[in-house]
Amino acid sequence: MTAPSGAGKTTIKTALLSGLDYLGFSISATTRVKREGETDGADYYFLTPDEFKQRINDGDFVEYEEVYTDQFYGTLYSELERNWDLGKTVVLDIDVQGALSIKETFADQSLVIFIQPPSLETLKKRLMARDTESEESLRKRITKAELEMQFAESFDTYIINDDLDLAILEAKSLVDDFVGKQ
Ligand code: 5GP
Repeated sequence: MTAPSGAGKTTIKTALLSGLDYLGFSISATTRVKREGETDGADYYFLTPDEFKQRINDGDFVEYEEVYTDQFYGTLYSELERNWDLGKTVVLDIDVQGALSIKETFADQSLVIFIQPPSLETLKKRLMARDTESEESLRKRITKAELEMQFAESFDTYIINDDLDLAILEAKSLVDDFVGKQ
């Protein structure tokens, strides 16, 4: 799943994971600081920039991106394997560039759902209401979101997150259909 920050992707992802028991989450590695309420090894693997560089050099990433200046995020091969060993279909929550890389690597074996906020205004309001970001971080996220909004139609499918319950239903049905077809 991919989306501009603030589109509601994380909420939809959480609902998918708790609603469809054949799904497992790929816990990404990141160098960003841990937010209140987040757990290392559950939400992310929080790494220092040096540790992250080491993992790049060791070839541990399926894909990685500098999503924001000095903030790296990446999908670990070991996370895909951990989920596959459990017989799970893997869910990734990644930025637009990362999703493009995944599509390149996994092609028809992957379904990329772009979660679109109803408008840029709604997205800004959601980001501001979140209250987890500094002003600087908020500014970066809004600038990036403006760019990312243009990618809505570049992926397999998109969902407009206007009504959250409907968006969740739509996401579940898309995933069920996709996995059923494999
Ligand atoms: P946040 O800091 O809000 O948790 O995430 C910021 C952005 O980084 C989100 O768009 C999220 O989907 C993305 N992200 C999280 N993990 C990964 C990853 O492993 N790879 C990439 N490319 N982006 C990621």
